[in-house]
Amino acid sequence: MSTVVRTVEPRGEGVPGCTIIESVERITESYADYLTDESGFGPPDVDCLVFARSERQVADVLADANGRGVHVTVSAGRTGIVGGAVPAGGTLLSLAEMNKVLGIRRLADGRFAVRVEPAVTVAGLEEMLAAGDLGLDPATLLPEEADALAALKADERGYFYPPDPTEMSAHLGATVATNASGARSYYYGATRRHVHSIRVVLPCGEVIAAERGIHTAGDGRFEIKLAAGGSLDVAVPGYTMPETKNAAGYYVSPDVDIVDLFIGSEGTLGVLTEVELILSRCPAGVLSALAFFPDDESAIAFVRHAPACSSSRSSRTRTV
Ligand SMILES: Cc1cc2nc3c(=O)[nH]c(=O)nc-3n(C[C@H](O)[C@H](O)[C@H](O)COP(=O)(O)OP(=O)(O)OC[C@H]3O[C@@H](n4cnc5c(N)ncnc54)[C@H](O)[C@@H]3O)c2cc1C
Repeated sequence: MSTVVRTVEPRGEGVPGCTIIESVERITESYADYLTDESGFGPPDVDCLVFARSERQVADVLADANGRGVHVTVSAGRTGIVGGAVPAGGTLLSLAEMNKVLGIRRLADGRFAVRVEPAVTVAGLEEMLAAGDLGLDPATLLPEEADALAALKADERGYFYPPDPTEMSAHLGATVATNASGARSYYYGATRRHVHSIRVVLPCGEVIAAERGIHTAGDGRFEIKLAAGGSLDVAVPGYTMPETKNAAGYYVSPDVDIVDLFIGSEGTLGVLTEVELILSRCPAGVLSALAFFPDDESAIAFVRHAPACSSSRSSRTRTV
């Protein structure tokens, strides 16, 4: 039997309205940076550029575009190298103004999880964690959030967020949308394993709030009950994931967690408006080494062997 997921109310009452630029001439003249990314693909084709400031506004934009059959391209830090943020007609939806850290908590297993809007950058979070200041207003924190923040600050070794796509201006929402891997993935893995919960706006404008471990597909299906009435019957994609490295693309398994379905889907299933990311304790030290191998086989054998070696040794010292 398929697993039922109910949509929730969009957040963002009272947030100042979004900026909408409908003149193609003005977009081309004043917002040219938004029309391309690191792929250099183009030429771009766009009718309208929207800077959303809240989840509710994202929901309104998607519902409106969906109703009119208009394409929407999501734009984040535009460091992608495959042209995913380059508009191909219709609306270009920039999330650049949704850039706040929203909260922090300790999960049941003691790990810290930080909740951010999608446009907080990799560099921004790294700097805030290094400074021990997430920019949260203490007056607005719940007691458990204040306790988590105090515990985070009290730890001298500190905490960090492992996924590092090496392009530090990338937005965290986009790193989740692309399941970014990068410089630290060999040991820490790609983004997926560091995401605890998400909020995502579906193309129809309804919002799913999903926490890992709560909703796994039943018989390869989800039934999404919409607040507006009716439901969506969603079959988990049925292709076979390659055995080689495959960070991008739909994550497929008959009992997939709905959080995993959206991670790596590159905005094709919805727009991520909040992501909750698990922090790791900073390593006690980092040792750089330059190793020379006599042949390819021994280098590959080292690469295969090293993670098991490091995880068994560090299990005595590593806190994640
Ligand atoms: C020099 C260089 C090195 C790189 N190295 C790596 C690497 O090692 N590993 C790696 O994985 N990547 C790497 N990248 C690619 C890129 O940095 C990552 O894919 C990054 O996650 C993209 O973030 P962004 O904010 O720039 O997203 P964008 O390029 O703006 O968007 C990327 C895609 O995600 C979609 N998207 C963005 N935000 C959302 C959202 N909130 N909800 C739904 N969909 C959304 C966009 O529509 C687009 O399809 C590298 C890029 C460069 C230029």
